[in-house]
Amino acid sequence: MTSDTSLHAAPATPDTAWQDEIRAGVRHVRDLASLPLSPAERAAAKSAAANHKVRAPKAYLDLIDWNDPADPIRAQVIPSPEELEEVEGELDDPIADHEFSPVPRLTHRHADRVLLFPTYQCAVYCRFCFRKESLTSIGRGYTREALEPALAYISGHPEIREVILTGGDPLSLPDVALAEIFARIEAIPHVRLLRIHTRVPVVLPLRVTSGLVAALQGRLMVTIVTHFNHPREITDATEAACRTLRHAGFVLLNQSVLLKGVNDSVDVLEELCRELMYRLGVKPYYLHHGDLARGMAHRRTTIAQGQALAEALRARLSGICNPIYVLDLPEGGGKVPIGPYYVEAREGGNWRLRGLDGEVRAYAEVVGA
Ligand SMILES: *Cc1c(COP(=O)(O)O)cnc(C)c1O
Ligand code: SF4
Repeated sequence: MTSDTSLHAAPATPDTAWQDEIRAGVRHVRDLASLPLSPAERAAAKSAAANHKVRAPKAYLDLIDWNDPADPIRAQVIPSPEELEEVEGELDDPIADHEFSPVPRLTHRHADRVLLFPTYQCAVYCRFCFRKESLTSIGRGYTREALEPALAYISGHPEIREVILTGGDPLSLPDVALAEIFARIEAIPHVRLLRIHTRVPVVLPLRVTSGLVAALQGRLMVTIVTHFNHPREITDATEAACRTLRHAGFVLLNQSVLLKGVNDSVDVLEELCRELMYRLGVKPYYLHHGDLARGMAHRRTTIAQGQALAEALRARLSGICNPIYVLDLPEGGGKVPIGPYYVEAREGGNWRLRGLDGEVRAYAEVVGA
């Protein structure tokens, strides 16, 4: 805090408070020196940072219980020695973003929607990120010129209705850059919806300011897809950020990554999904099976474990609180639901289906001629 804040009739939380959260957080691997890390974490940090930068705002670090070596927030942002162990079968580009990239900063795999990468920088660097190779090797921020070819491509493809800003974290950009990007996409008449994939409401909730919201107002339907992984990330501050986004008229969805030792428990996922919907007004959209990102074997569950968790969630939570458990297939196969399954057998129009209570029941189809 600077001394002059008391001289002005500033709001309780000034619109620039988020900058203090960044300054007081970890911005570089050397800032880890001030944290109570284990000797193994300290040793790992330097080598891990060469593959994937280290960064976390103070607000997010404040959620860590430093007495717990297995703390689920710590596990997401502090490099661990296991991260250096790459296993056969892991990939630099697990979902083939590059292969489906006709021009820089854009991936086009499904006819009606594209991924657009306005920046390859984030407010936080999640250790499990499946784009960490791009973030390290490309690593650039936003410039007007850098998006020129991608926007020309979208203009030339009238089948594109949805533009998904991802990266990198689009909401780590300044308001002026966001307003410029919004205006440039809005000017393309066939684009209907702008979607923003972001961890900012989770890790830097004070960044969700009136200026940010104002930058995203106009003709386009706007959907914000947040990335909460654990109920401990749901706080008064993240609640206020989501309220601001909801009141601005945006549709809010969440995607989580299933991470061993972080959220691979029915109780944790149940509380996460319920609080997302009931407290934040954020609909759980996808629960992603852990991608084949390098050095992440220690955080991956098996698919069978994920299916058992998804099945328990289906039985415990209402439909609107339930995410779809998906696997993003390598080679650009897209995101496919991977269970749970309820069809036990089928013979023509005669089905045997397992109910949410576990009982298998017969169901005979009745259709008109
Ligand atoms: C995930 C993804 C999308 C969005 O898919 P939805 O199922 O609509 O959320 C679009 N394009 C690519 C290349 C993706 O990886
Ligand atoms: S914010 Fe998203 S893109 Fe950035 S490191 Fe985390 S998961 Fe990766």
